[in-house]
Amino acid sequence: MSLLVVGSVAFDAIETPYGKTDRTLGGAASYFALAASHFAPVRMVGVVGEDFGKKEEAVFRGRKIDLTGLEHAAGKSFFWSGRYSQNMNERTTLATELNVFASFRPKLPDSYLDSSFVFLGNIDPALQASVLRQMRREPKVVGLDTMNFWIEGAPAELRETLKGVDILTINDDETRQLTSEHNLLRAARRIFKLGPSTLIVKRGEHGALMIHDKFIFSVPAYPLEEVRDPTGAGDTFAGGFMGYLTAHGRINEQTLRSAMVYGSVLASFTVERFGVERLARVTRKEISERAKRFARLTSFKL
Ligand code: AMP
Repeated sequence: MSLLVVGSVAFDAIETPYGKTDRTLGGAASYFALAASHFAPVRMVGVVGEDFGKKEEAVFRGRKIDLTGLEHAAGKSFFWSGRYSQNMNERTTLATELNVFASFRPKLPDSYLDSSFVFLGNIDPALQASVLRQMRREPKVVGLDTMNFWIEGAPAELRETLKGVDILTINDDETRQLTSEHNLLRAARRIFKLGPSTLIVKRGEHGALMIHDKFIFSVPAYPLEEVRDPTGAGDTFAGGFMGYLTAHGRINEQTLRSAMVYGSVLASFTVERFGVERLARVTRKEISERAKRFARLTSFKL
């Protein structure tokens, strides 16, 4: 089974209380693909500019990541810059330069059209829908991420796109904004009416909450002494989560619960260092050891 992801591939400038980087490989699709490729083959769809060279490409090579759908366009790659507050809970976006992303129209290579799992990263909902329309057959599972910019700016397009989505992964503010409902359980009920049958609320250092029609499951964030840069944690979570589901090929309570744990485990590596530095080095062994510790962390008897 293959997993298709569409989303940003970017250069990021990040400032946190632990340091600063002027230009590091980032973008939602980058974090997602690096995390998911530990579990299943990933097909990337996105666009980069002339500044994306062999060095950046090398980060994806030697893994189960297909770059056929990564378009190279004239101009500069998407650039994003952000600064975190002292306690890392708040982030200020300093710059968003769309560059080649501004005229991006996803075009799926033929070899991607049979993907059974699809993740629509945080881009214009109309473009997310165009990816789904291009698929040769209906995917088994579709996940989607979005943000306040699209919830406010393209509500009708987003609602239309959500009709074809199974799993929505957004943060708590976005959940409330999308549904005009403060209570997350009630918000989930409203989201189920829009299309998805599963809502995953990403809650940063507080972990993630999965609300499904039939059950609820919650995971903490893996406790770490050193959190240096939270950038990409949500995208890494989504990559670990969707990658795990793709590898298991079926959706049920058990696979969804385990996928939540692997999403959290992968995200815990991302935040330990800047950009994709740690995520790009993590090994299978480290992932399974941390998953075991995660199970102990959350296990108890009644
Ligand atoms: P996260 O920390 O999970 O919100 O993801 C951060 C990543 O998303 C960074 O690597 C950015 O390059 C990328 N990003 C930031 N803003 C946008 C946007 N408006 N559209 C697409 N990607 C973005």
